[in-house]
Amino acid sequence: MDHVEIREAVKKLCAAFPGEYWRRMDQARAYPTEFVTALTEAGYLAALIPEEYGGAGLPLSAAAAILETVQAEGCNGAACHAQMYIMGTILRHGTPAQKETYLPKIATGELRLQAFGVTEPTSGTDTTSLRTFARREGDHYVVNGQKVWTSRAEHSDLMLLLARTTPKEETQKRTEGLSTFIVDMRAALGNGLTIRPIRTMMNHNSTEVFFDNMIVPAENLVGVEGRGFRYILDGMNAERLLIAAECIGDAKWFIEKATNYALDRKVFGRPIGQNQGVQFPIAKAYAQMRAAELMVHEGCRKFEAGENCGEEANMAKMLAAEASWAAGEACIQTHGGFGFAEEYDIERKFRETRLYQVAPISTNLILSYVAEHVLGLPRSY
Ligand SMILES: Cc1cc2nc3c(=O)[nH]c(=O)nc-3n(C[C@H](O)[C@H](O)[C@H](O)COP(=O)(O)OP(=O)(O)OC[C@H]3O[C@@H](n4cnc5c(N)ncnc54)[C@H](O)[C@@H]3O)c2cc1C
Repeated sequence: MDHVEIREAVKKLCAAFPGEYWRRMDQARAYPTEFVTALTEAGYLAALIPEEYGGAGLPLSAAAAILETVQAEGCNGAACHAQMYIMGTILRHGTPAQKETYLPKIATGELRLQAFGVTEPTSGTDTTSLRTFARREGDHYVVNGQKVWTSRAEHSDLMLLLARTTPKEETQKRTEGLSTFIVDMRAALGNGLTIRPIRTMMNHNSTEVFFDNMIVPAENLVGVEGRGFRYILDGMNAERLLIAAECIGDAKWFIEKATNYALDRKVFGRPIGQNQGVQFPIAKAYAQMRAAELMVHEGCRKFEAGENCGEEANMAKMLAAEASWAAGEACIQTHGGFGFAEEYDIERKFRETRLYQVAPISTNLILSYVAEHVLGLPRSY
């Protein structure tokens, strides 16, 4: 789980992208192209792609170490983290031809597959009620509908899309009749695909996308028609563990920053960190972070052993997101007024890390998973 050499190398790479760089991106709501290019060229975004397809073939814990380090160094992996894990659906369920066509190019970064079209404005978390529909017509599908919060759509060549192929009323189970597609957004843009950016409280390059008779070749269907929901679920544990690792990195950044400031800043003739009222929130956040970190490691261990890690992946994501928030809260409070000044980067990281209590899944839904699937309590919805 340590991956010390990887952490050291990522740290070195991140040193070229200091707070000033991220502040500039944040203010302009710009995409950090140079940072993403550097990570791509160093091969980090291909960590999970097997060597036979040109990737590094590393275990999930190594990918987690990469993203944790990115965040702990004050950078923001949200611009590209999905390039690491969306391809997992093609890897696990794609045809040999799809794997040959896409994976080597995703590994080099020639193709960016970092847009994931699942969430819709009306159905929200109730994924099986999504309305985007793909109708088969001969050798292609015709897609109509809308997605929201499709992050990085403007900075991706491909999108993994979840759409209905059989109306919900005609299926036996609501999880059936959904299918996954690889959408070539370069071809579709202006031909049935429209992308509109959504300005958010942090720099996340999220968008809403509209499909108006968009054509997708039938060969771009991933796996079997109607089983797409299962395929998406298969990839969620890896995604949750990687996001959790990012939150651990954020928490470490906040805790280090808060500790250093508490040591340096003198008020009433002594370091503010001498006051237990200042120490305790930082110490508590540290304890929360360490506990969450253990859960991330346990989730990765089970994932790598091929065991079901649904419980650990979900809990890791919730605990880590809460730990990073507690650390952010302690950090901003420790800095007093300076916590609000842009040049300290704290308010930026504070805004960025808040997202992970909502996306890719909100805390309530994790608690509901644990209640129902781990504790055996009745299903509530
Ligand atoms: C910046 C950003 C980037 C994102 N990127 C992507 C992306 O790339 N691709 C993608 O597909 N999606 C993306 N999302 C969407 C994200 O996954 C959803 O916002 C999230 O899953 C919550 O869904 P919702 O916003 O529709 O909330 P809703 O489902 O409307 O829920 C609203 C609130 O009600 C609570 N709630 C709902 N139902 C229940 C229940 N049964 N019990 C208890 N509480 C409940 C939720 O926990 C939540 O707090 C992104 C979101 C954001 C904000």
